[in-house]
Amino acid sequence: MKDLRIGIIGGGAAGMACAITAARACGEVTIIEAGERMGQKILSTGNGKCNLGNMELDASQYHGTCAFLSDAFSKFGTKETIAFFESLGLYVKEKSGYLYPQSEQASAVSDALRYEIAALGIKVVTGFRVTQVKKGKKQVAAGGMASECFVVSDGKRELTFDRLVLTCGGKAMPKTGSDGSGWDLAKKLGHTIVPVVPALTNLKCKEQFFKAISGVRTDARVTLLGQSSLSHGGAAVHDKALACERGELQLTDQGISGIPVFQLSREVAYLLKKQKEIGILIDFLPMFTDAELCEMAKNRMSLRNGRTIEEFFTGILPKKIMSLLLKLSGLKHTEPAENLTEQDVTALLLCAKKFLVHAIGTGDFSNCQVCAGGVDCNEITDFMESKMVKGLYFAGEILDVDGRCGGYNLQWAWTSGYLAGMNAARK
Ligand SMILES: Cc1cc2nc3c(=O)[nH]c(=O)nc-3n(C[C@H](O)[C@H](O)[C@H](O)COP(=O)(O)OP(=O)(O)OC[C@H]3O[C@@H](n4cnc5c(N)ncnc54)[C@H](O)[C@@H]3O)c2cc1C
Repeated sequence: MKDLRIGIIGGGAAGMACAITAARACGEVTIIEAGERMGQKILSTGNGKCNLGNMELDASQYHGTCAFLSDAFSKFGTKETIAFFESLGLYVKEKSGYLYPQSEQASAVSDALRYEIAALGIKVVTGFRVTQVKKGKKQVAAGGMASECFVVSDGKRELTFDRLVLTCGGKAMPKTGSDGSGWDLAKKLGHTIVPVVPALTNLKCKEQFFKAISGVRTDARVTLLGQSSLSHGGAAVHDKALACERGELQLTDQGISGIPVFQLSREVAYLLKKQKEIGILIDFLPMFTDAELCEMAKNRMSLRNGRTIEEFFTGILPKKIMSLLLKLSGLKHTEPAENLTEQDVTALLLCAKKFLVHAIGTGDFSNCQVCAGGVDCNEITDFMESKMVKGLYFAGEILDVDGRCGGYNLQWAWTSGYLAGMNAARK
């Protein structure tokens, strides 16, 4: 439909994929971008390498209210994403299931999208932060029926479109342009916003000892505990594992970080709205079972001869972690290891396996990778169209869909952008 004017608010990953798809399907497309340049967030993704997708794509990698994720990925999944980028001249490579541009440069992804946008003659209006969207009437032809349209404005200028796509993102890393204003626009148009929290971020913990172990990176299993009951003494008893992740744990001045923590952070953020603190169990020795650690303690007793306690425990854990465990268990590192009993050694190793800390906060929106929450997907059709406002579409992080680390969030931007663009351009 050549005479169909499609406006896309937000020139991020979803907006650019949407614009290219709609323009290829013959719509007259305009991208309205608040910043001076499109695709700013893409430059920061994957540590500058842009992890743009994952070979293991399925709905179980996502959270939120979208019930049609599997259907969406069956229409535009990994294979289609690779083909889409190849159609822009950008080759995609796979590393352990993760997808990256061949050059491993995130700028190659945003450049390829921008060049195609220019080649397709898509209009790009930058420096235009939309603050209002109104429904208006458009005269079709002299004497003809007036049809509905959208009038978007930044308070000074107005632009009119037949169909509108909101791809304003969330408010993660707002310096890249997405400041949450898309949700205000959606709300004013009648949509419900599922409470928004930072996701894929670090956790702040209440324990004072984190400064002493800051900087350590180690393989660990991290388990999120439910606060199920209070013991007789009034202390919280955490006995229900809500979720568990294994990977490289990073210890910071204030708490814990790294991929396994990122994966749990959205759930912690929502729990912290109801609870003051959340129990997190760290297993610093995930490669051993409890029984193997008991056996290790027994076998190690012969090493006590002529060694201090610190020397005796060397070689099992990162030094800072072992020093902290010795301190917490009241053992003096300079004392002779001869003073240790097998029970002391077993207890210390088991403590490393079940090390309880308490999360009291998450990283904020300026340093999270995505937002959990957003426009309620129950109010969106599987064509990405609003069930409330005809001709209004959504794509990307503005919706209540957040994926795990590993390329899933950009994949959602490509998939939902494609579907919104395809359907917005349809008669
Ligand atoms: C540090 C970091 C690393 C990441 N790494 C990865 C990764 O490796 N893999 C992965 O899958 N995901 C990653 N993500 C997440 C991923 O980047 C986002 O999920 C994705 O970019 C969302 O795309 P979007 O188009 O929906 O929103 P955005 O990319 O945020 O784009 C929204 C655009 O809309 C514009 N805008 C907002 N409001 C308005 C308005 N009112 N008027 C006009 N324009 C407006 C903004 O300026 C912005 O350009 C990372 C995120 C961060 C912050």
